[in-house]
Amino acid sequence: MSPRLSTTLDISRSPPKAAVLPNLTGMTRAELRQALEGAGVAAPDKARMRAGQIWRWIHHYGVTDFAQMTDIAKETRAALAERFTLARPEITSRQQSSDGTIKWLIRLAPGVEVETVFIPDVAHSGALCVSSQVGCTLNCSFCHTGTQGLVRNLTAAEIVAQVQIARDDLGEWPTSLSDRKLVNIVFMGMGEPLYNLESVAAALDIVSDNEGIAISRRRITVSTSGVVPQLKALGETTGAMLAISLHATRDELRDQLVPINKRYPLAELMAAIRAYPGLSNARRVTFEYVMLKGVNDTPADAKALVRLISGIPAKVNLIPFNPWPGAPFECSDRATIDAFATILKRAGYASPVRKARGRDILAACGQLKSESEKLRASARRRQVPAAAD
Ligand code: SAH
Ligand code: SF4
Repeated sequence: MSPRLSTTLDISRSPPKAAVLPNLTGMTRAELRQALEGAGVAAPDKARMRAGQIWRWIHHYGVTDFAQMTDIAKETRAALAERFTLARPEITSRQQSSDGTIKWLIRLAPGVEVETVFIPDVAHSGALCVSSQVGCTLNCSFCHTGTQGLVRNLTAAEIVAQVQIARDDLGEWPTSLSDRKLVNIVFMGMGEPLYNLESVAAALDIVSDNEGIAISRRRITVSTSGVVPQLKALGETTGAMLAISLHATRDELRDQLVPINKRYPLAELMAAIRAYPGLSNARRVTFEYVMLKGVNDTPADAKALVRLISGIPAKVNLIPFNPWPGAPFECSDRATIDAFATILKRAGYASPVRKARGRDILAACGQLKSESEKLRASARRRQVPAAAD
């Protein structure tokens, strides 16, 4: 079990500074320039240069305090500190698994928490699994996050902050292009990224910028349960690699496992995938397929999968089902998973079986669920008099 973190409902009389000042870390270059100009911290003719200078401090050096920006005049630094913040959100817990996986629980606001997981050795280099929403509105029947309901979308700053927090912890500032652990980002944490595409796209622009965190777009994968109308926009605006949570090859079964399938059934989904911009053998789609005992794991299912994805540059990631308390499924046996993988391999698809990472800290796929709860009206009513005491 992950630690049971109680939802905090504290309302302090004066909100923390970070809550009121705009945070520069989630701004794209253009937004940063506008913000500096708008606040009178940079004259219009100097705004581009000033924004570039501050950008490097934030995203290349990872500073959290304007005082550290040593090539900027003291008065300007003071003016920046009065108007803006660079603060990271608070980390409420950090757990490290026996296999090296690290999970951070990050508090974004009272009662609003999100999880981020670093997996040390995916494809010989580490991957950070980031969240795009607190909770999720889509109730996939095998997913723990889906049982949480949605609390809210994350802002671009909150998505970028997950990367910054990981780099703080891993000691990876300033950015070095060689010898770094965090080289891949996967949007496979909490939430459906395509229901928050605007923030996801802005965060992607920020973390892939060469004068900053510099993680190539080809090393950033966005996983979706199949929000068909947004797939084209994802490809065109982000250039990110695509992963599809497929899990079933028949509408009847997929309707039960991934209920968004009722809205966007397989035929529509597969057509949208085939049209995803920039697909090639060097830029393949990843199909994720969770192995559920007796549900979707027979040789016939594997053959149906081969037929369904035929002609698409693809690899298949087989994910052993990760159990969570009260889950209505079991994981397929190892021999069944291997037999399934063999059929895919014979058909020419790379089909790695994903190692379960961080199971002991409930950090594996589909196990993420923070204790954030919606601030229900009743809770709010209870809390307001207490705050006024
Ligand atoms: N919401 C997005 C991204 C986050 S989920 C999506 O669904 O694609 C990341 C992956 O973990 C998805 O493929 C999801 O289907 C899978 N997953 C969810 N619960 C799981 C579980 N209990 N065991 C194994 N994989 C799971
Ligand atoms: Fe949401 Fe993805 Fe979980 Fe489905 S699998 S409930 S889309 S987080």
